Amino acid sequence: MIIVPEQQIAGLLTRSDCFTTVEKVFASMAKGSACNFPVVREAIGYADALYGFKSGFDRESLALGLKSGGFWPGNSAKGLTNHQSTVFLFDADTGRCRAVVGGNLLTALRTAAASAISIKYLARKDAKVLGMIGAGHQSVFQLRAALDQRSFERILGWNFHPEMLGRIETEAQERGVPFEAVELDRLGAESDVIITITSSFAPILKASQVKPGTHLACMGTDTKGKQEVEAELVAAATIFTDEVAQSVTIGEAQHAVAKGLLTEQAIVGIGAVINGAHPGRTTAREITMFDGTGVGLQDLAVASAAVERAIERGIALDIDF
Ligand code: NAD
Repeated sequence: MIIVPEQQIAGLLTRSDCFTTVEKVFASMAKGSACNFPVVREAIGYADALYGFKSGFDRESLALGLKSGGFWPGNSAKGLTNHQSTVFLFDADTGRCRAVVGGNLLTALRTAAASAISIKYLARKDAKVLGMIGAGHQSVFQLRAALDQRSFERILGWNFHPEMLGRIETEAQERGVPFEAVELDRLGAESDVIITITSSFAPILKASQVKPGTHLACMGTDTKGKQEVEAELVAAATIFTDEVAQSVTIGEAQHAVAKGLLTEQAIVGIGAVINGAHPGRTTAREITMFDGTGVGLQDLAVASAAVERAIERGIALDIDF
């Protein structure tokens, strides 16, 4: 069994590796050759933690396994990231455990890759202003991946805890793009692409604050009850997602579906756009939204890529198990 520790991941996979790996697995899902299994995610009644499993199988790549972990909100005060996870890969021919891979950086990279994929396929080509709602651990990864997709000329930011916006500003400065902290009205009125990446349980952005033609990547809602945007905004947009079953149960769409403003059938898997089976955005004034819930297959794909790289470089730790 191969072990790839958390601290090796950064040297094994680039942002671009994760982008192509996740794009490929979303396409496999749309073709029906890869399947996510139902998610288990529970509040464990201790340390305010959410813990669970995401799992699946890709018959094309033979990636089989699960990511186990969750969200511990008190971790940042201990110098740890709030998300903690580990990926377990199994041999599809024998069921033997093939690898254990640190999942923290991989989660951030694969989540940022998903929203970047949505920007590539759904944002207007002439998008110039990027709005960031959220300034936690994931936000900088999101920002970096978004900046790879369009020639953004300005970044606007808003966060529930404004003092955290410094990390977005620092990253923007490093990439040479002007940053400004603004109120939500201005962020919505001026942004062509908006990424939401918060752990909010109440709507932050309203339908009335978003202009026609905007693309939203709603990435923070990955649990029943969480919500980042008004259900009316979801209803006003064309909704794309990584996995429809997750979108309506644990994703941003859960609230619009519960209110009867959106049907499950109206939600499009982003893989269909990647494969060319769905046109994606059809007009410059359409509001598009990607409901990124985070799927197990993304984790298995990037973890498998990390294992292959570690083997190629001769640094994989192989133990008899
Ligand atoms: P973090 O704890 O580092 O940051 C939390 C963010 O949410 C900060 O911007 C914080 O200011 C904001 N926030 C906290 N309480 C809030 C409130 N009551 N109202 C509004 N905003 C509030 O977390 P992170 O690692 O950056 O993750 C952010 C979110 O993304 C979490 O909800 C996490 O579960 C989710 N996530 C989703 C995926 C996915 O695949 N879709 C993957 C990883 C993380």
